[in-house]
Amino acid sequence: MKRMLLLVLATLFAASCATGPSRELNLVNRALDAMGGADSLAKVRTILVKGTTKQWEPEQSMVPGGEMRFANEASFESVGDFSRRAVRVDWVKKFAYPSPRTFTFSEIVTPEAGYVIGVDSNGRNKQSLETKPAAHSMSGLRLAATQREMRRASPSLLLEMRNNPGKVRASPDVTLGGVAHPAASYDAGSYTFIVIFDPKTGLPARVRTLDYDNVWGDVNYDVVLSDWRTMGGVRIAASQKYELNGRVVTDVQITEVVANPAVAADRFEPPAAIKAGAAKPATGKVDYQWVLRRQFIGTYLDSDSVSFDTRATSSLRLAEIAPGVQHQVGGSHNTLIVEMSDFLVVMDAPVTDNQSVWTINALKAKYPGKPVKYLVLTHHHMDHAGGIRAYAAQGATLVVGKGAGAHFRKALSSPSTRNPDVAARDFSNTPIVEVDGKYVISDGKRELTAHSVDNPHAAAYLIGYVPDAGLAYVTDIWSPGRDPLPAKITSPLAALAAAVRKAGIAPTRFAGGHGSVGEYAPLAALAGQ
Ligand SMILES: [Zn+2]
Repeated sequence: MKRMLLLVLATLFAASCATGPSRELNLVNRALDAMGGADSLAKVRTILVKGTTKQWEPEQSMVPGGEMRFANEASFESVGDFSRRAVRVDWVKKFAYPSPRTFTFSEIVTPEAGYVIGVDSNGRNKQSLETKPAAHSMSGLRLAATQREMRRASPSLLLEMRNNPGKVRASPDVTLGGVAHPAASYDAGSYTFIVIFDPKTGLPARVRTLDYDNVWGDVNYDVVLSDWRTMGGVRIAASQKYELNGRVVTDVQITEVVANPAVAADRFEPPAAIKAGAAKPATGKVDYQWVLRRQFIGTYLDSDSVSFDTRATSSLRLAEIAPGVQHQVGGSHNTLIVEMSDFLVVMDAPVTDNQSVWTINALKAKYPGKPVKYLVLTHHHMDHAGGIRAYAAQGATLVVGKGAGAHFRKALSSPSTRNPDVAARDFSNTPIVEVDGKYVISDGKRELTAHSVDNPHAAAYLIGYVPDAGLAYVTDIWSPGRDPLPAKITSPLAALAAAVRKAGIAPTRFAGGHGSVGEYAPLAALAGQ
């Protein structure tokens, strides 16, 4: 019977072959012709590409759902060797956010490993901090994400599709600007590219992946290719814009291309100190959007956990900082947990649901039978609110600042079928409370109060306060235990001190969404209180 089925399948396959190349392979071949022909592309053995980039981060906006934050502008020079399948990119990135600074660094990517020479982030891992001069090997997560993006934008993607016809599949037309565009999908291993073709020219117009975004759930991530020119003998899209659900988050302009330049082999050689133990590309789940977009603002922690540096620690942990008050620490982003008589209150849901699931499991063990009834968010930024679905799935009520409710209602109403950490379900009815001034969560004995703070970091912002512990909680506008107080007060710190006074609360200590715990008196003194 099995043999019979195989025979039938073989016959069908032969029949389909007899009709010539499929529609999708015709699309690939037509695109290659429009790009100057597969043969001329195959003759490019090495390539030098220079250009500039600009990036914006939608989920670090001042106002929830508001204008994207301008992140950085950069210039780059990359060399690629197709026979070695190796690329080196030399970067000068000028960041505008979260603070102005310039990082000059190089990335080397081969099929087996990736390396960063120089400093490219404020969130440096242990190896970067300990290697002099600074360098580190890429985590498997970053290597996989970098390889995917290099492959997406490479003119050789279409050649690869032509050479692997068994991995090219039919894909429904995509309507763009009211016009149906033919498309083909390419099974590229642990992810799939959808290549969308210009119906007029036959050129590839977009290369799409179906990604997961920790705020918006299921998203399209596209490179939009336009302004095709012949540069250095290669037909290339001089304009390459990356769109996240239709919004341009990266704008690349190619300014120079040289085909077949001589490239010294040592251009792809990392410092010996970081070669040993370099990670292979991750093959399982990769939070592509987290890995890519934390690099937009120069804060990416290059690690095989999205939450903590695997080179420095093996896990997140709970630290008891007052009776019945836990501080989840050990990673780049913290959470505060307050035990009430028969439930728990959590402040902030940082990074992704992966971290929330860890915290929820740790709390189930520590406080059995006490559900998380409230999740209070200090603010809407993706790195402190990217793990809300795990708490919503537990039935928690979301408590946010005034003006943030509609943003979170929209985010929770978006499909999240690609969430790797929490099963998809309808989160659109999650209870959301907006706080204007003050909100009290009480069990009749203990209270946690949330207070609005006008500040330069984010609108709709809250701090938390547990009166019986004399403990408050703040994220980003102060990182107690991490950032020493400056000689002269800054506007975020002044905003915090003013809010404490206005709220009429008297914290002796603050715990932070970053850092650890710090005394409040020195800050109050600095603020002249
Ligand atoms: Zn923030």
